[in-house]
Amino acid sequence: MIDKSLPLVELHRHLDGSIRLETILDLADQHGIALPAKSVADLAPYIHIDDSAPGLMAFLDRFEHMTAVLVDVDACRRVAYENVEDAKSEGIDYIELRYSPWFMAESHGMDPAEVMEACADGVRAAERDTGVRANIIGILSRTYGTETCMKELDAILAHRDHIVGVDLAGDELRYPADLFKAHFKRVRDAGLQVTIHAGEADGPQSVWSAIHDLGATRIGHGFRAIEDSALVDYLAEQGIGLEICPTSNLHTSTVKDYVSHPIKPLAERGVKFCLNTDDPGISAIDIAHEYDVAAPAVGLTPEQVHQSQLDGLQMAFLGDEEKSELQLKVAQRTAL
Ligand SMILES: [Zn+2]
Repeated sequence: MIDKSLPLVELHRHLDGSIRLETILDLADQHGIALPAKSVADLAPYIHIDDSAPGLMAFLDRFEHMTAVLVDVDACRRVAYENVEDAKSEGIDYIELRYSPWFMAESHGMDPAEVMEACADGVRAAERDTGVRANIIGILSRTYGTETCMKELDAILAHRDHIVGVDLAGDELRYPADLFKAHFKRVRDAGLQVTIHAGEADGPQSVWSAIHDLGATRIGHGFRAIEDSALVDYLAEQGIGLEICPTSNLHTSTVKDYVSHPIKPLAERGVKFCLNTDDPGISAIDIAHEYDVAAPAVGLTPEQVHQSQLDGLQMAFLGDEEKSELQLKVAQRTAL
């Protein structure tokens, strides 16, 4: 259960994996893009996953109809704005939204730097209108290879003032973290935070590499750390938190079922984590689903869920003062 007296934060949500079905239909209609269906109900089966895809890369194929409607910067701005509106309606107080500008730009040949700017603009406008605090994490999509990722990083760093961190996502098995050392040196030199998708499709060495080669202070997923006891101890001692997305892990078939998810034993050994949705537009979930349905299903106790909500605030890429402001805001709301 979400504790309403604490700030509710979501730290791992892909902006482009969180596009409303209505918006996909509307943009397709405006721009003459062919879709396999003409209504929300008929389109849902092409976008949503309700059981599991046969692997991470098959899951990523679901993005096809979403990126197809990202026809111009206005579409990107709209999607970004609606992400924050949706966070508001889910009761989220602070959200970190992430996206790969190269991936979003690709289908319609946009300039990735302009995509970066348009999304940032949408997020900032929605922050002002909704009161939800939001920050942006730029993604390097490793599946494009090191050279393209360096160009993608240029696009991200061109808008350095709009972002708080950089992530590495995509095909973890074929593009290991150590290929991207030079990229993340630039990220750290720019004073940005580092979170890396690791220990999801690949094993514990991928998490070690994210930490030692790239300087990650948070890990996206990371649950395969359970296979290496020394790594579990290290994560707990160093306070390196895991961004856990249980339902997404089911849908990408990186865990077999909720009961098999290793987050409970990791939590029992003192590893910090928070609960997140990953790609709610594909998984057809919201943050409450992860707290109310997924968390008990993976075996977390109410105390562990409560602790994860506290840890989420601690793990957030916010300064101490901003965290205190969030706490104060929630305390004032609870007192009303
Ligand atoms: Zn992710």
